[in-house]
Amino acid sequence: MEKYKEHFRLSVANAINYTKDFNIFDKNSKLKGEEIGDGNINYIFRIIDETNNKSVVLKQADKFLRSSGRPLDLARSKIEAEILRIEGQYSEKSVPKIYLYDDIMCVIVMEDISEFKNLRKELLKEKIFPNFSDEISSFLVDTLLPTTDLVMNSAEKKEKVQSFINKELCDISECLVFTEPYDDYKKRNIVLKENETLVKEKLYDDKELHLEVSKLKNNFMNNAQALIHGDLHSGSIFINERGIKVIDPEFAFYGPMGYDIGNLIGNLYFPLINKKYLMKDGEDKEKFIKWLSTSIEEIYDMFIYKFKNKYKKLVKQPLYHEENFMNWYLSEVLADSVGSAGLEIIRRVVGDTKVIEIEGIEDIEKRILVERELLEIGIRFIKERYKIKRGDQL
Ligand code: ADP
Ligand code: MG
Repeated sequence: MEKYKEHFRLSVANAINYTKDFNIFDKNSKLKGEEIGDGNINYIFRIIDETNNKSVVLKQADKFLRSSGRPLDLARSKIEAEILRIEGQYSEKSVPKIYLYDDIMCVIVMEDISEFKNLRKELLKEKIFPNFSDEISSFLVDTLLPTTDLVMNSAEKKEKVQSFINKELCDISECLVFTEPYDDYKKRNIVLKENETLVKEKLYDDKELHLEVSKLKNNFMNNAQALIHGDLHSGSIFINERGIKVIDPEFAFYGPMGYDIGNLIGNLYFPLINKKYLMKDGEDKEKFIKWLSTSIEEIYDMFIYKFKNKYKKLVKQPLYHEENFMNWYLSEVLADSVGSAGLEIIRRVVGDTKVIEIEGIEDIEKRILVERELLEIGIRFIKERYKIKRGDQL
């Protein structure tokens, strides 16, 4: 369309017109719009038809970060639209539907999932979701396994690997998750004064840990195993009593599936340890902690169970379909997962991209203890990732 033949940043008014120009709503619609994004990267709008309350969400990527104005590769936008389509094929109910993608304007028009709430915020409010472990473990198995070359045609998979090369966003993860928490050479880490000595000794100076982190980083950069979400933290998962919606996969690329699984599991330790120290003792606390720790266990165990079932159905290739290989493959995925959980926990404690469950703790004495416990868990997960074989060992 002539009007949109070059990328420009939409205002709310532009965004309304945009949905008109692309006939997203009925002819007689009466539209209003608002900007709703709370992320720091992109621009998000909700457009509503007041005649019938139908709504859509527009997500636009700009050449510059919303927060800092730093340039960021627009390729991420197409990657996000593409992976949402693919995830939608494999797990329709777990992602927003895509109505339109515009490669030039970098606009995704998608289903409005406002009925679902941000999991990170819900957990901080001590909400319990009995089906969460079941739903997210299905999402992981259903979207990850079919994108591997165990299942996919080898040539097609290579083309996919190529089309999902996500240079700049991978670079962000390589730096912030795999490097700087262990070598603060850019001086960007933010560490509590009281924990400085500990961080130096346990993270910056531990060569044994550095070796394990390097192995995980090398795996992240070279193991084009599956099409992964790449940023599956609890703020990318939206939830209510009816189910989950996973959004914001702009870090997607072909990488080790354990990175997603571990990212998810790692993020569940933030509310767990936060509530352990900050919730008032009593029945509510016991119930919440019990549910959340059981959920962590179940995600791990259900992943194993569902992965094996799906593997037996989908993997037909000679040699690959044999049980011994399946078990070896799965044990590598699980070790990557536990290691990645450790990396995620540690980087949120010492890196500059914190989480509200840590940063929001006002009582400094408690925050010190929360951070110490998280570091201990994270280090154990990285070092002992091959020893952990069952959910309850987490
Ligand atoms: P960013 O890439 O900038 O981090 P996100 O995709 O995480 O953007 O979206 C930021 C916020 O916008 C989300 O936390 C959510 O509140 C809202 N949002 C994004 N997509 C949708 C959607 N499809 N429906 C409803 N709200 C959405
Ligand atoms: Mg985001």
